[in-house]
Amino acid sequence: MSAKTDLRSLSRSELKSLMPKLGLAAFRGEQIFDWAQKRAAASINELTNLSAADQKKLAAACYLALPVLIKKDVAANGDTAKLLLELADGERIETAIMFYSGKDSRDRVTCCVSTQTGCVMGCKFCATAQYQKCRNLTAGEIVSQVQMADKAAKELGSKGLTNLVYMGMGEPMLNLAQVKKSIELLNDERGLNIGQRKIAVSTCGLPKQIRQMADWKMQIHLAISLHAANDELRRNLMPAAARYPLQELLAAADYYQAQTGRRVCYEYALFKDINDRPEAARSLGKLLDGRGALINLIPANPLPETGFMPSDDETVKHFSRLLSLYNVEVQIRQERGRDINAACGQLRKRTLEV
Ligand code: SAH
Repeated sequence: MSAKTDLRSLSRSELKSLMPKLGLAAFRGEQIFDWAQKRAAASINELTNLSAADQKKLAAACYLALPVLIKKDVAANGDTAKLLLELADGERIETAIMFYSGKDSRDRVTCCVSTQTGCVMGCKFCATAQYQKCRNLTAGEIVSQVQMADKAAKELGSKGLTNLVYMGMGEPMLNLAQVKKSIELLNDERGLNIGQRKIAVSTCGLPKQIRQMADWKMQIHLAISLHAANDELRRNLMPAAARYPLQELLAAADYYQAQTGRRVCYEYALFKDINDRPEAARSLGKLLDGRGALINLIPANPLPETGFMPSDDETVKHFSRLLSLYNVEVQIRQERGRDINAACGQLRKRTLEV
């Protein structure tokens, strides 16, 4: 990694205070922010409102780079796309883009953002878990990934990204500082200007970090990957969860809701004969009853290497009906992008097979 400073990782005020140290006028900071964030410049050479001399001073201490687009897949029905991106050190990540149209969704375009180049949490059903040797993305890398997705979304005929879900590769709570920074950059009105309410962060459930996130007092949504309503099953499915008993996790989620006023979304992927029985629905209902929760049921996505099978449609519907007997709101998520392996849990570090 370069010892130089990534200009895309810096806020407007950080850029402004950096300028005099490099011998540039402070107002250049605003211009550079515009290039780095709004215009997604790929290099310092592109900053045409800076003199060659200023570009040189900047390049001596800093850099601007975009990931290389290795591959772009588009689902047959066009509602989902996936990018394989290569970062400066050769690490690769995947990023999904989902297009929603129609009256209700007001042409929403959602980017599923990766925060690490793999994941150490070890969830048994997830493709990303195969890459335990991984590193955190920097805020600048997270932003540049979103910019690449925005560009691709426009090339595919949309007006660009409107929503972000931090639900790609990695566990955002293990990279909290860079996740926060990236949200601030992407939310900046002079950057991509994506509203906080249009951003969600998903976690497999680290209570301490959830509380830290609550204290940001931002308007972003929190999603918790629950997948089981009792500790024993959850531990089997999500080994890292063994360290965080459900009661501790739910207390942190309640704290998030109290601090931010945002309703917490619980994700529950339905795996055939594992967590999809009527008793499981009842214990989930009891666990979340009266918490003001939204439950997102996800028909599981099959992964050849794990042996987990998705529940059939009728089981999913029945599970949902049983849950609606409790004081919770239930949605069945329409999975997209399975034909290009872009659905939940299908993102991975692709190397040889591309
Ligand atoms: N590490 C974070 C962010 C990843 S989000 C988290 O766990 O929340 C990816 C979502 O897809 C998570 O809810 C994850 O549990 C879910 N997922 C993983 N594998 C899946 C599969 N095979 N089918 C359906 N959902 C899956």
